[in-house]
Amino acid sequence: MQTETYRQLDRDHHLHPFTDFKALGEEGSRIVTHAEGIYIHDSEGNRILDAMAGLWCVNLGYGRQELVEAATAQLHELPYYNNFFKSTHPPAVKLAEALCRLAPAHMNRVFFTGSGSEANDTMLRMVRRYWALEGKPDKQWVIARENAYHGSTVAGMSLGGMAPMHAQGGPTVPRITHVRQPYWFGEGRPAGQDPETFGRDCAAALEAKIQELGEENVAAFIAEPVQGAGGAIIPPESYWPAVKEVLARYDILLVVDEVICGFGRLGEWFGSVHYDLEPDLMPIAKGLSSGYLPIGGVLVGDRVAETLIERGGEFFHGFTYSGHPVCAAVALQNLELMQAEGIVERVRDDVGPYLAERWATLADHPMVGEARSLGLIGALELVDPATGERFPKPLGAGTLCRDICLDLGLVMRSVGDTMIISPPLIITRAEIDELVSLAGEALDETARRLAAREQADDPAIIEESRS
Ligand SMILES: *Cc1c(COP(=O)(O)O)cnc(C)c1O
Repeated sequence: MQTETYRQLDRDHHLHPFTDFKALGEEGSRIVTHAEGIYIHDSEGNRILDAMAGLWCVNLGYGRQELVEAATAQLHELPYYNNFFKSTHPPAVKLAEALCRLAPAHMNRVFFTGSGSEANDTMLRMVRRYWALEGKPDKQWVIARENAYHGSTVAGMSLGGMAPMHAQGGPTVPRITHVRQPYWFGEGRPAGQDPETFGRDCAAALEAKIQELGEENVAAFIAEPVQGAGGAIIPPESYWPAVKEVLARYDILLVVDEVICGFGRLGEWFGSVHYDLEPDLMPIAKGLSSGYLPIGGVLVGDRVAETLIERGGEFFHGFTYSGHPVCAAVALQNLELMQAEGIVERVRDDVGPYLAERWATLADHPMVGEARSLGLIGALELVDPATGERFPKPLGAGTLCRDICLDLGLVMRSVGDTMIISPPLIITRAEIDELVSLAGEALDETARRLAAREQADDPAIIEESRS
């Protein structure tokens, strides 16, 4: 009864993010009511292992009383004040200091935002402002990558390389362009290339683009260390070293979008540390507060910060909620808990390697063309067992597998026919066993249902699977 009431109100009044409004209205939403640890619960009494940590963010898991208490105490003390007009407050200052201590040594400043998208908007304005102040106002082009995700504001989607977003969002922010992504399974394998050659070719594409635009016109290159929303795409080992070589030949800023990879996801505080990168700017959000409250920011390296500070005058940019005291207090408590509990080291030395070992066993499944993971991010590429190639798109294998996962009590997301996970960093070995075993069951059931469909060869059933 409760469930139907909520569904009806949801259908009548609520437009969901990244959703076909009409299709969801017909199907009805899942009403998530509460959660603890790595499990969410819905209004129909189901307990579901959340292998996506919400949206890549609930790194410390659900129900952490320390985070609740940090928010409560700050709400009593000072629920809101801004950081405009020569003011600040203790939570913003303490969080800024803590972040800069954890960040690479040359990053000593942070600009706060309310989200990852706002962080990328901020970053774009800083980058172009930096070059203008350096007397190189033509350096405006930002090179990003196809199938990257950098957020959903106009600047975020322009920087991102998501074709469906661009198709709906134009005209985009000028002077942003995209080069090929280091997605071996999706692009290198079909072309018959080995991963390492492919990785170097992708770096060469970046260099070709710089030369095509002219170094004097290029401001920055932006990339996620591991592409998240694009499909948990772990680049070939050759990719980042080759990109570093390219960047060393040109005077171009490096922006590493750490919104997913930051805060332990890859087994280091930042993905940049894992890949030994020296970013000039790092947009952050998501795991910064374990998703308990919305907060993001841009960590700014000394090179850019010094110019903005010494020569910039007023920077006409900021948000009402930049450095919001309650969000900052929760983020600070989150970072303190992560340090006290050795969460990052645990991902690097214990649960990350354990997931890698267990996840790799799924590659034996006839429907899995590749199983990859790094730290606590992973993906499975679904293929037709008969051919070892991708299923025909209209079959909707990934969507079907995702729905079967939910029925079995597992949140595993699908990006096309790529199944992805990014569980809370507090996941235990036993819970990893449960995750992998549920994923295996889901693969079996997906294979059974697809085989039945192919036999029935019924376009209506195929159509139904696409929703
Ligand atoms: C989620 C995400 C963003 C956008 O963050 P929001 O808080 O949703 O605005 C930006 N970059 C990456 C890599 C992300 O995964």
